[in-house]
Amino acid sequence: MKIYEGDNVLIISGKDRARKGKVVRVFDKIGKVIVEGINIRRKHVKAKKSGEKGQKIESPAPISVSNVKLICPKCGKATKVEYKIIKDSKNRICKKCSAEIPKAKK
Ligand SMILES: [Zn+2]
Repeated sequence: MKIYEGDNVLIISGKDRARKGKVVRVFDKIGKVIVEGINIRRKHVKAKKSGEKGQKIESPAPISVSNVKLICPKCGKATKVEYKIIKDSKNRICKKCSAEIPKAKK
């Protein structure tokens, strides 16, 4: 996958189209990502004891990686990336400005 945790992405389809957010989790095997504040699902949790109130929990659900586009930190544009091998390591390169897009540090 060309998207890593910590990347800023633009949502290109679905109900959150045109919004931006930060990738907080990547699911390589299923090709999905969780983006902060995007695709929020509300879950109702029933009260466990009587007299307690039920709760609404909001959490972002995974979306397909094909619905997001990486935002280049250098030129600020949503872009496609390509890989370039530099000294045996795979580097992501912005197709618009040719800048190297490093993996975000945690
Ligand atoms: Zn760029």
